[in-house]
This record gives sequence, C-alpha cells and structure tokens, in this order.
Amino acid sequence: MVIKMKFKINESLEFPYEGFFWIIDDKVVGYSEQVPKYGYEYKQSKTHANSWDYMKPVNCDKPFDYYSRGRVMVDPEYDKEGNFKYFTAMVFLDPCIDNDYYKDIISDYYNLDIPTMYNINWMGNLKGRAGIDHYTCYKCR
Ligand SMILES: [Zn+2]
Repeated sequence: MVIKMKFKINESLEFPYEGFFWIIDDKVVGYSEQVPKYGYEYKQSKTHANSWDYMKPVNCDKPFDYYSRGRVMVDPEYDKEGNFKYFTAMVFLDPCIDNDYYKDIISDYYNLDIPTMYNINWMGNLKGRAGIDHYTCYKCR
C-alpha cells in the first residue's frame, strides 16, 4: 500500500490566488494575484495573449495558445451583514489537463486547498457552451 505524502510549502497561508496559467513540461507557468477576504478588485487587463511574450519560456517560439492553459477565478462570499463566509473558486481549463494530476498542481500553485475554500468548480469540458473561452491547445483543436 502506498500512502501519498505531500509537503506543501504554503499550507499555512490563509489566502487563495487567482489568475491564468499554462501547463508547460508538467509545471504551472502562471500569473497569480492574492485574493483577500475583503476589498478585492480584479484587474482584467492581463490575458494569455498579451502576457505570453514575457511569460513564455526562454527561446520558445510557440504561439500563446499552443500549450494547455486555463484560468482560476476566486470569489469571496459574504453573509447578509457583509461578513466574509468563505471562498469559492472556478477553474476553466483545457480538457487535456482536466484530471487529478493537474488539478493537484494547479491547486497547489494557486493555494486553493485551504480551510477557507468552500468549493472548487473545475470547468474542463465546455464544448458547446457559448461565450466561454474553451482553452484548447494544439493537441485538442
Ligand atoms: Zn488541449
């Protein structure tokens, strides 16, 4: 019997992160912003397309939509009095990386596996849903 032990360097951190990412050589290459319980304002200006040039690996000549990619969105939820209750997350991701291995490293990277995270909604299969970026890569197009 194998017991999977995992050391998490950020286990004690209280806050999740959100942002967008690629999976390159089985690692997360991402942009992330910490989401506090109160007063968070998301800046929509950064995208896969306009960040690729400075985030891509050195000497990489692939376009921004070559590798599998996705986006993590975190929302703090409040009660009627405006007190923080918990976080919820929605993760849009390429169907190629919609499995436990990648969910694990994405959760680690964005610190989603914390006690104040109530729910993570993994949106890996969005075929036919209008108005949503499907995050396909060269393998699944
Ligand atoms: Zn894909």
